[in-house]
Amino acid sequence: MYKYDPKSLKAEEFINDGEILDTLKYADENKDNLPLIDSILAKAKEKKGLTHREASVLLACENPDKIQEMYALAHQIKLDLYGNRIVMFAPLYLSNYCVNGCTYCPYHYQNKHIARKKLTQEEIRREVIALQDMGHKRLAIESGEDPVNNPIEYILESIKTIYSIKHKNGAIRRVNVNIAATTVENYRKLKEAGIGTYILFQETYNKESYVKLHPTGPKHNYAYHTEAMDRAMEGGIDDVGLGVLFGLELYRYEFAGLLMHAEHLEAVHGVGPHTISVPRLKRADDIDPSKFDNGISDDIFAKLVALIRISVPYTGMIISTRESKAVREKVLPLGVSQISGASRTSVGGYCEPEPEDENSEQFDVSDKRTLDEVVRWLMELGYIPSFCTACYREGRTGDRFMTLCKNGQILNCCHPNALMTLKEYLEDYASTETLTIGNGLIDRELIKIPNDKVRGIATEYIHDIHNGKRDFRF
Ligand code: SAM
Repeated sequence: MYKYDPKSLKAEEFINDGEILDTLKYADENKDNLPLIDSILAKAKEKKGLTHREASVLLACENPDKIQEMYALAHQIKLDLYGNRIVMFAPLYLSNYCVNGCTYCPYHYQNKHIARKKLTQEEIRREVIALQDMGHKRLAIESGEDPVNNPIEYILESIKTIYSIKHKNGAIRRVNVNIAATTVENYRKLKEAGIGTYILFQETYNKESYVKLHPTGPKHNYAYHTEAMDRAMEGGIDDVGLGVLFGLELYRYEFAGLLMHAEHLEAVHGVGPHTISVPRLKRADDIDPSKFDNGISDDIFAKLVALIRISVPYTGMIISTRESKAVREKVLPLGVSQISGASRTSVGGYCEPEPEDENSEQFDVSDKRTLDEVVRWLMELGYIPSFCTACYREGRTGDRFMTLCKNGQILNCCHPNALMTLKEYLEDYASTETLTIGNGLIDRELIKIPNDKVRGIATEYIHDIHNGKRDFRF
C-alpha cells in the first residue's frame, strides 16, 4: 500500500506514483461513464476547480461532444475570470553555463559544441534597453545551473541592474525568475530583490524517468527539485509557477502530477500556483525531439490547456514562443492568460542577432513575429494585450489575486490596468497600423468598465498617457 498525502512535505508522498497509477486506472474505467463525466462538468461550472482524479477522467474521455463541452466551459471560465486580456512577457537568458546533464536540454555540461555565454551587467543593460524599446515591461530571467559561473549573487545583481534601467519611457516593472531549485535562504534573497513569480518546471513528475532524464548534476535529486516550491514559499515567495515539459513522459501521468502539485501547495500553504506553463519539447542544438517517445499532438495539447483551465480556474496559464502562431491561436480561447512575444532563447541576441557560428540558443522558437505583430494579431482576434504589472506592485500576490477575482473586481481593476498599459505601448512603440487598431479597441473596451467612477478615472488617465504621462494603475 502506498502513502499519498497532499499535506506531506515529502515529494514522494504529495506526488505519489501509486496514487497517480490508481488515478489513471480509475480514469480508464470511467472514460465512457457519461453520468460521471456530466457530474464532473457540472462541478467544473461552479469554477471551484477539480481534483486530479476528476480532471483525469475528463482527460481520458474521448467522446467528441463531451470534449466540445470541455472546450466551451474552459472558454467561458477564462472569460469570466480573466476577461479578454492576455498578459505579455519576454524571456531574458542570462547565462547558459550549466553543470547538469539533462538529456533533453542543449545546455547540458557535456555539450562542447554550443557557445557558452554569460551576460555581463553592461550586456544585460543593452539587452534590457532593446527589450524596453520593443515595449516589454515584464521579463522572465533564465539561467543554467552553475554555482561557480551563475551563483545567486550574479542573479541578484542582474535583477538589480534590470530594475534600474529606465530608457526613454521604458521600464521593466516585473522580473520573474526561472532558475534551478535552490535553498530557502536564496529564495528569501530573491524575494527581497523584488521578483515577481518564481518559476521552476518539474520537467516530469515520474520519478523513475526523472532520474534517467537527469543522470548527473544537482538536478538529479528528484526530491530536492520537487520540494523546491515549498522552500520558495517558506522563503516568502507566494507567487510560484509550475510546469512540465510535455514530450518527456506520458502526458496523462504528467497532468495528474501537475494537479497533485497544485493541490499540495493549496493544502500546505493555502495558495495554489500563480501560473502553470505548458512547454513542449523542441528541437535544439544537439537535441532531437523525435528521440523522445512521448510527443503529444496539437489536439491533445489543446485538451490539456482546456482541462488545466477548468481544473485550476484561478491559476494563470503561459504559452511561450515554442508554439507556432497557429497553435497559439488554437489554444488562446481555451484558457491561456499570458504569452511571450518576440522571444530570443539565446544568451544575448535582443540588441543584435547572434553570429551563426556562435549559437547559444536553448531551443528553436516557432513564433518568430515581432512584438508589434503579436500585439496587432491579438487585437485582431479580440484580445487586449496587457503590459500590466499592477497586482505585484500593489502587493496583490498569492491568494490576494484570487480574492480580486472572487469579488468580481476584474472589470474594475485588471481591465482598466490592461487598457492603460496597452495605451502606453501604443503611444511609445506601436506601428501606425497597430496604433489605429489599438485606439479603436481601447474606446470599445473602456465602456465595459462597470463602475462609473473607475471608468471616468481610466478615461482621464488614458487621455493623460496620450499627453505624455506614464505609469498609472488601480
Ligand atoms: N536551469 C533551470 C532549471 O534547472 O530549472 C531552468 C531554466 S531553463 C533555461 C528553462 C526550461 O527550458 C527548462 O526547465 C526546460 O523545461 C525547458 N527546456 C529545456 N530544453 C528544452 C527543449 N529542448 N525544448 C523545449 N524546452 C526545453
